[in-house]
Amino acid sequence: MEPLLKFEHVTICYNGENVVQDINLELNRGEILGVVGESGSGKSTIIKAVMGLLGNEGMVTEGDIWYKGKNVVDMQEKELRTLLGPEIAMIFQDSLSALNPVYTVGSKMVELIRRHTKMSKAEAKKRAVELLAAVGITDPEKSMKSYPHELSGGMRQRVMIAMAMSSNPQILIADEPTTALDVTIQAQILHLLLDLQKKNGMSIILITHDLGVVAQTCKRVAVMCGGYVVEEGAVEDIFLHPGHPYTQALIASMPRVGGTFEQFLERDLSDGSGNLCPFLNRCKYADKTCEACLPKYYESSENHKILCHRREEEK
Ligand code: SF4
Repeated sequence: MEPLLKFEHVTICYNGENVVQDINLELNRGEILGVVGESGSGKSTIIKAVMGLLGNEGMVTEGDIWYKGKNVVDMQEKELRTLLGPEIAMIFQDSLSALNPVYTVGSKMVELIRRHTKMSKAEAKKRAVELLAAVGITDPEKSMKSYPHELSGGMRQRVMIAMAMSSNPQILIADEPTTALDVTIQAQILHLLLDLQKKNGMSIILITHDLGVVAQTCKRVAVMCGGYVVEEGAVEDIFLHPGHPYTQALIASMPRVGGTFEQFLERDLSDGSGNLCPFLNRCKYADKTCEACLPKYYESSENHKILCHRREEEK
């Protein structure tokens, strides 16, 4: 079956500089794909490209982004608007800024629902209450009358999810949805996303810097570093047999093991640039080959690809 969303050789440039290079990624129907990496790795940029949010300085300079057979890169703003919200919805890390502080939750939700449907105000209000209840808000009627600042971080995140679900999207993009929340609420929100995915059959792209979040929710993960996908595969393959030194350092630095990411690197310089390995300046295995050219992907097992000169047999 054709993937629902497909990045084909996508390169994105900001102010004349490539920030994301040659991305090839697929999102299948009903799948939860994790995209993990440090800030600046390019993970949010690829999502902005799908949503048409690159701004005046950013643009896709090479490649295509296919959604249901249509190239998003070629779409005019009007066509893109028919897609975003109804078909592809997004939730953000900072729910307080994402929600409008001068409107009550209810008025915003009613407006949103009516934008995508032909419902009357009363019908939209009823639907809004149902959606808030579906995301686990215990007193939805009361929350409808609340302003965003009157709700806790966890409740605001639930409201954002309810808003995103109001159009029954095919794809939900969640950009660091639990970063600002404490561990218990984080687990509840992840559980909610899994639950909604199962009920609605939608696909989810989960952008995060936290491999623990990926382990709890995703089936497949793409690891990004310095604008490249340096490793991609099934979550269990990546966790049990990480092939890229960057992924290995990320896993080694997870709290369960202890230590910081930097402790697991021998060198701690800025990322490599240009056409060399994006991890070159921080990699303890870097050698002359790495300093000479960009590695090619190799498959360590089926559908597990790694961008590194150092092959499995050398490890
Ligand atoms: Fe390290 Fe070389 Fe592999 Fe890059 S290509 S991750 S520098 S071993």
